Amino acid sequence: MRAPAFIVILLAALGSPARAEEAQPLPVEEVAPGVYVHHGLHEEATVANQGGIANIGFVIGDAAVAVIDSGGSPMEGRALLAAIRQMTQLPVRYVIDTHFHPDHVLGNAAFVAEGAEFIAHKNLPMGLMARRDSYVAMYEAVFGPGSAQDALVVPSHLVGDRETIDLGQRVLEIRAFPTAHTDSDLVVIDQTSQTLFAGDLVFLERTPAIDGSILGWLKAIEALRAVPAARVVPGHGPVSAPWPAALDPEQAYFELLVRDIRKLLAEGGSLQQATDRIGFSESAKWQLFDSYNARNVTAAYTELEWE
Ligand SMILES: [Zn+2]
Repeated sequence: MRAPAFIVILLAALGSPARAEEAQPLPVEEVAPGVYVHHGLHEEATVANQGGIANIGFVIGDAAVAVIDSGGSPMEGRALLAAIRQMTQLPVRYVIDTHFHPDHVLGNAAFVAEGAEFIAHKNLPMGLMARRDSYVAMYEAVFGPGSAQDALVVPSHLVGDRETIDLGQRVLEIRAFPTAHTDSDLVVIDQTSQTLFAGDLVFLERTPAIDGSILGWLKAIEALRAVPAARVVPGHGPVSAPWPAALDPEQAYFELLVRDIRKLLAEGGSLQQATDRIGFSESAKWQLFDSYNARNVTAAYTELEWE
């Protein structure tokens, strides 16, 4: 589904964003020829890290560049654009948002002036708009009052299933998924290098966050195993990891949660008992575990109690 123009909400009414060439280029690593990734920190978003907590990257074809996730703030997006401009002057024709979480989409504004087409899962606009007030509040709590004014750019080129885009002798395949990490997950496969950008369908090191469906995510993991790829760029974790072994840690964590929550539910256990007890054998394996496990157990308990 294509729409003629992107929609900009809360467009900058105050001030003008710094130009790309004024931004310090974001450090990026070349994980395959023409495929670059910036490593997201395992922190919460702060002014110091510019919201740069997710892996974000870009792919350079013969005629154009595609950005895959734009970062956690317009500042990070501009730094990503500066990194692109160190490599190539080709137009940034596409910005693909792997899902609606702020650390992946709030750099979009930096690419509006490039004339980029913003691509996302068909559910992304509704999900982002539904969460707009809380995202603006969270963002402004970190970056200051009024700072979200230019931050939200909602894609209008929407993908319901699969499609391809061509960067010039370089085809990217985009596949949308049913509800898993969120209800707006998609992955991008660079067919030239067989690099899979998995967005937050793949977490390594940082505790996965369930904002969709734990059972749906487990199904997505099974579907992803069939995707032929030489490597994966996870949404969080190292910039590149072996495929499909990268799926194993999160699958083990989710299977543990499902098994133990089902058992507790069968015994009539409460949500409080679930969050007090379940998941902790995984705590040493994941960073920020205490910030996310209780939320994951709550989400999974709420889903599984209706089985
Ligand atoms: Zn996410």
